[in-house]
Amino acid sequence: MEQLLNLIDGELRPAIGGEWLDVYTPATGQVYGQLPDSDERDVELAVQAANRAFPAWNALGREGRSDALLRLAKAIEDDLEGFVADESRDNGKPLSLARRVDIPRAIANFRFFATAILHFHSEAHLMDDVAVNYTDRQPIGAVGAISPWNLPLYLFTWKIAPALAAGNCVVAKPSEVTPLTAYRLSTLCERAGIPRGVLNIVHGLGPKVGAAITAHPKLPAVSFTGGTRTGAEIARVAAPMFKKLSLELGGKNPVLVFADCDFDKAVKTTVRSSFTNQGQICLCGSRILVERSIYDRFRDAFVEQVKALRVGDPKDADSDLGAVVSQAHLETVLRYIDLAREEGGSVLCGGERVRLSGDLKDGWFIAPTVIEGLGPTCRTNQEEIFGPVVTLQPFDDEADALALANATPYGLASVIWTRDGQRTHRVARALQAGIVWVNCWMIRDLRTPFGGVKQSGVGREGGVDALRFFTEAKNVCIKL
Ligand code: NAD
Repeated sequence: MEQLLNLIDGELRPAIGGEWLDVYTPATGQVYGQLPDSDERDVELAVQAANRAFPAWNALGREGRSDALLRLAKAIEDDLEGFVADESRDNGKPLSLARRVDIPRAIANFRFFATAILHFHSEAHLMDDVAVNYTDRQPIGAVGAISPWNLPLYLFTWKIAPALAAGNCVVAKPSEVTPLTAYRLSTLCERAGIPRGVLNIVHGLGPKVGAAITAHPKLPAVSFTGGTRTGAEIARVAAPMFKKLSLELGGKNPVLVFADCDFDKAVKTTVRSSFTNQGQICLCGSRILVERSIYDRFRDAFVEQVKALRVGDPKDADSDLGAVVSQAHLETVLRYIDLAREEGGSVLCGGERVRLSGDLKDGWFIAPTVIEGLGPTCRTNQEEIFGPVVTLQPFDDEADALALANATPYGLASVIWTRDGQRTHRVARALQAGIVWVNCWMIRDLRTPFGGVKQSGVGREGGVDALRFFTEAKNVCIKL
């Protein structure tokens, strides 16, 4: 049985309370190890360590911090296959996906922000002969980071890298459902020359560790990615403390397929945008809206390709989908499929748990599921399912498509399929979303602003936005 440990003040250690939580391999449904069931005492130690480490880390300067983060990126890269295997085992995602996306993007996060900080500049405002103003952007000090289970190391590093690059020290909590790669990262920090206390990783439950990070007065900024309900709870606690908050929350993303699209590309990419990572990416399209004149043709081609997807052992190179992340999540997704049936939806394919054999017989696998026949206001089309389930709805014209697309409380990502350039701009502007992909999906440039509107979040991550979040701007006005 593997025992994972917290990283606090440069030391790998169990929780002060000595309690442990089980961690599971989704593909087998079996416990593989334990993680520290930490509480506010562990967070307190981590916050003290981070605040102690801050002056020296900040004083290292941009280049010193950049070098340290590049060494950490290299250390992950040198252990790529170890990280890939751990991410797949812990999360249930295909090994091939962890190798192609998760781990390379975690490395890229460190490299990107290690170099971005070297180019981070601020503004000067000259008032003719009166005065000159310049903006001094200083790190905040110790900051909190809380991340989810769907892209474990990728989203964990997406916060840690800009926070550290900007000169802060971090108290970070990975998801208790997928703690393994964060633990693996913590074992590399010393070797990579990250000074003790600069990065602290505290494992455990949200209402204990996450809540303690949110409420700690010596963590004046908290960056959170996760569910909308959790985000609301964090805002409820942190807002009256006037903390800086970045909230990246849930989604119910629309995919708008117009009749003039490149049909084959639209079908193929929509299969990918629906079911990559078992549909457990906040950017996955979950409501597919198709212009009525091509609805039947699109549906038939789409369902045919979805039926050909292989649900299988995450270790097999030809598995398209692995397991969903937990028993509880499996049950939630299956309940939503039942709800869709009760609401009058027709299940065109999937709609059930998949039982594999041998070691995988108790694994948490679900067949990719496509549903049609539901209107925009039913719960299936309003609530985030976050699994391998999508719905199809026809639309009549652009206005109808936009009304359907914007008809949820969420506004994270969206996809438009059309060859009409004018329509691209009109629709992209009118979509209530932080991210719009046109004739593609999941192309990511780390310099671009990333985040959502409405109940999908507050603030933006990525590029300059992340470096600005993790710094405080001070205007200095000098009389000429
Ligand atoms: P979650 O909200 O349950 O948990 C996220 C993190 O918050 C975990 O580390 C958890 O332990 C912690 N947490 C739970 N309760 C807490 C509390 N009271 N105080 C502080 N922290 C607490 O989300 P999840 O189930 O891990 O992840 C899935 C959700 O994340 C989905 O809604 C998905 O859309 C969203 N997500 C959003 C983005 C984005 O960029 N917008 C990216 C990935 C995932």
